[in-house]
Parts: sequence; C-alpha cells; structure tokens
Amino acid sequence: MLRRLGLWAVPLLCVVATVAAPSGAFAPERISVTLVAARLHQVVVPRATAATRPIPPDFACRKGMAALTFDDGPHGRYTPRLLKILRRENVQASFFVTGQNTTRYPAVVRSTLRAGHAVENHSWDHPYLTSLSRKKAASQLSRTSRAIRRATGRSPAYFRPPFGATSKKVRSIARRQGLQQKLWTIDTLDWAGRSVKRIHRTVRQGLRPHRTNVILMHDAVRRSPTSLEAVPGVIREVRARGYCFVPVEAVTPSVVVRSADRSLAEPSKGSSVVPLHVWLDDRTPRRGTIRATFVDGTAKAGRDYVGTSRTVVFGRGGYAHDVGVRIVADPEATGSRYFWLRLDRASALRVGTRKVKVVIRDAQASSAPTQQQLVDEWASPSAPSDSPPGAP
Ligand SMILES: [Zn+2]
Repeated sequence: MLRRLGLWAVPLLCVVATVAAPSGAFAPERISVTLVAARLHQVVVPRATAATRPIPPDFACRKGMAALTFDDGPHGRYTPRLLKILRRENVQASFFVTGQNTTRYPAVVRSTLRAGHAVENHSWDHPYLTSLSRKKAASQLSRTSRAIRRATGRSPAYFRPPFGATSKKVRSIARRQGLQQKLWTIDTLDWAGRSVKRIHRTVRQGLRPHRTNVILMHDAVRRSPTSLEAVPGVIREVRARGYCFVPVEAVTPSVVVRSADRSLAEPSKGSSVVPLHVWLDDRTPRRGTIRATFVDGTAKAGRDYVGTSRTVVFGRGGYAHDVGVRIVADPEATGSRYFWLRLDRASALRVGTRKVKVVIRDAQASSAPTQQQLVDEWASPSAPSDSPPGAP
C-alpha cells in the first residue's frame, strides 16, 4: 500500500516542508530586481566529475549563476517531458532523485545523465533524515547512491535532505559516503498548487545578484504538469536578468560578511585581536580564496588598528573563516571610528560583499552604536542572511 502511495505521498509530505524547513539561510529574500536589456548567455559545462568540472567563466554571467534543480523524481511520464524542454532550452539541471523511484525508472535516470544533467541523492523514500537513527539515515543515502550507480554507472556527489531537514549528524553521515549537502535558495513551492505565473514571480523575486541561486522545483509530484509548464518561463526570466544556468556543483558560492560583526569594542589599553567572520553563502565544492584588506576610514591604520592584507582560504566544503584584526587602544580619540574591510581577487568564489564598514566603538563611549552607524555598503542590493548555509 505504502509502495503504491509512495509517489503521491511525496507532495503531501512536502507540504509539511515549508512549515518545517528550518534553515533561515535558505529562505528566499525578497528583493527588487531592475529589468535590464536582455542578453542571453549560454554556459555549457561539459560533463565531468565534480572535481574536474571547469568553473564557467564569470564574464558570461553578468549577475552570476543559477542552478535549476528538480526533486523527488524520476517520474515515468513527467521527467522525459522535462528532459525534452531542457534540451530545447539548452539548460543543464540537477535532479535529486529518490532511490525508490530510481529503481522504478532506471532508464529515465540513465537518459537524464546522458542528456548532460546531474543526478544526485534525495534519500530512498523521502523521510525526515533528522528523525532517523544514524544507521537508518546512512542506509537511506547509501541505498540511493547504490541505485543511482546501478542505473547509470555513476555515483552522486551531492545529497539533498528531504524537506531540507538536516543536522550536523546528517551532514556527517553523508560526508562519510562522499556526499555533500546541497539545499536551495529559491523555493518555487510548485508542489503546492502555485500557478505558472506565481512560480515565475517567485523565481524573479528570489534571484540575488552575485550570490548563490539554487531554484527548487519538482518533477514527480501531483502538480508537476504545472512545474513543467513553468520551466520555459523560469529559464527565460533567469537568463533575461543576466544569470547563467549551471548544474548545482558548478554554482560558485559568494563571500559575505555577517552584519553582527561590524561593530568592535576598542580595548581599554594596549591592543586586542578581534575576529571578523567572513562567510560563504553556500558551502564551496572546491578550494577557493579571496583577498581581505583593511582600509582606512576615520580610523587610521597604525593608530587605531593594524592594517593588513591577506588571502583567506576556504577549503572544500567550507563556509566560514575568521579574519582577525588587531584593534589598538587610542586614549586620545573620542567617539566611534570606522575602517573598511575590502574583499576582492576572488578565486573559485564570487565576491558577494565588496566592502564592509567596521565600527570601532570608543572605550569611553557608554552607548552601543546606532543602527545608522552600522550601515555599510554592499556590492548588491540584497543583504546576506545571518545564518550559515545548512544550519539546522
Ligand atoms: Zn523532496
């Protein structure tokens, strides 16, 4: 009975997902998008292993990259139709399949991979991995990877926990199986009966320039005919706004700085090192670097802080890094002062935040800085989320 129900049970389960989906980092941010002259760009990423896959050239993607992902498949009827649409539009997408459906439609999974798309792991039968024992959660992932391997000869590199329900334990289980977690940033809620128009609007409003953009849709739920109908328009919207389509593993994470770290207390005497947290808005699938430089504002290097320039390295799977800055006590100075943290020369990463104003609060000052003092300059109109990616 459950087996028969399996396919249609998924959308019902997904309904719970929006309520339960815990990660603030992946709630789509509502931003206004300026319409610009459409220039259609195509970046074709040749199929290769995740490690050797080349990063598409940034110059071709004025606003950055976007990945189209389809969950819960494959489906015997919808997935082949979707493959046709993607072929016509020349888009490579990523399919997060369940093991159960993979064994049901192995030929569809094979043709998905053959068509140049990525096939990734979405658990065996879509449970909350967080509520399972370590052993059962591990089996959900390993059985699915095995089914994908059997169908295609290739192992998946990523997994997406059903409902986005994840934890440190789930990620560590997956890591042991060589699977990296990949959630989403734009939830189209296509399974919930949204109209094509509404799906388009959700994507349009969710796109964030120079940030990680991962669009979530479904190709094996009751509402999938509407999803399929919406796909060409989604592709048009995304491209017209200057983004390129790449499979999830080719999406380059963006460097951001948490707003909470932009106000530092001046030591009462001597000097002290304060960490500034530099984050990626998604875990990086490959090693990436960025240069961090402290630049004078009203605070002067030498007198108020120690000015340095250094390369910040994010290892594979990493997303956070501390950049220490030494703040010097200045008994002469009164009032708050600021300097800039400048981020540039990114390699295998995108610069999300270019420049951040860092306020040194006067040791004598009794009150905390006002919100206005903390206003900084961002490279793009959207402020980054304050939660690390994949936060449970
Ligand atoms: Zn799902």
